[in-house]
Amino acid sequence: MSKLEDGSEKGLKGHFKEDFSLRTRIGLAPRAGHVDRDAPYQRIATEEAWTFPALVKAQVEYLESGAAPHDDSLKMAGLFAHMPSLQEMLQDLGDLRISHMDEYVIDRQLLLLTAPGVQVVKPGDGTAMAREANDIAAEACRNHPDRFSACAAFDPRDVAGSVKEIERAAGLGLNGAVLNSHFQGHYLDEQDYWPILEALEANDLALYIHPTAPFNAPHYEERGFFGALAGFPHDVWLHTMGLVLSGAFDRFPKLRLVIGHMGECLPLHLYRFDWMQGNADGRSHLRGGTQPTLQHPISYYFKNNIWITTSGVGWEPAIKFCQEVLGPDRVLYAMDYPYQQSYDEVAAYDRMDMDARVKKMLMEDNARSVFRITG
Ligand code: CA
Repeated sequence: MSKLEDGSEKGLKGHFKEDFSLRTRIGLAPRAGHVDRDAPYQRIATEEAWTFPALVKAQVEYLESGAAPHDDSLKMAGLFAHMPSLQEMLQDLGDLRISHMDEYVIDRQLLLLTAPGVQVVKPGDGTAMAREANDIAAEACRNHPDRFSACAAFDPRDVAGSVKEIERAAGLGLNGAVLNSHFQGHYLDEQDYWPILEALEANDLALYIHPTAPFNAPHYEERGFFGALAGFPHDVWLHTMGLVLSGAFDRFPKLRLVIGHMGECLPLHLYRFDWMQGNADGRSHLRGGTQPTLQHPISYYFKNNIWITTSGVGWEPAIKFCQEVLGPDRVLYAMDYPYQQSYDEVAAYDRMDMDARVKKMLMEDNARSVFRITG
């Protein structure tokens, strides 16, 4: 157990106590370890969450106004808003966050506006919120150029506003864009939203699709797994496969998509995807829908347009499998701060039995290349 996890370290005491009281070791979770402070790689963590007070306020006000449609993602925002130690960590882009990064020996965080972000606030308010978020994130990157990079927020419900904000974010020097998966049951594979994909490609910004509570959350909620145990990965699976099968990557071949949590389990199924695609192409009744015939096997898009991060899955066999089937250049390290943070997990990465060049790609080089991080 790390010092942070048992809350004994001076200055860190109390964090996570009431909200996310950290686990004692169970099952496959990493054993106690030592992080190498002189490792031959920087550690760039690529799915690290943040938020800011005006957004939390806007989410809660809309939720409590009674005017919001039923939206489990908005409900989730309300839940997070009432976790003070979590909010303290999410809202800090300075000393507290950097002290935790130093504790875990994380050189750089890629900041992602946490789920559900601006896409659940009152319609019409999201783009202004995204602008504010992107100005704050850009300022944090300017203040700490050697510690922070950031993805831009946008509200896809406002397509024209999103396109403008993506262009502005590129001008601010931000490193990608983040979407917290579905927005009131809509997904970017719907062609109305394709100007957003076009803008991402044109501005050379990778799109990170991060989970949120799924649209049909009650099915998950009543079984106790609306979050990371099922609802989160399933929704990003839907979003990613929707984009692939819609032909979006044939239309925008340079579009870069990043998904977390070991690719939300998708890489394990590439063989079956290709098999079933061959079986069903030209016979859409076999799989439903009206998708076009793709230019390539489904696995092609996972090896050319899609990158995955290891957020929350510091597990050597899974990482090595994905490096083998996708290529070592397609797997990026992420911690998932502050939701899942563990000194022992960072130590487990150091211990992984991996070619030194491939380890450096995992921990540092791939993040630099996908998110255009310099410095
Ligand atoms: Ca996350």
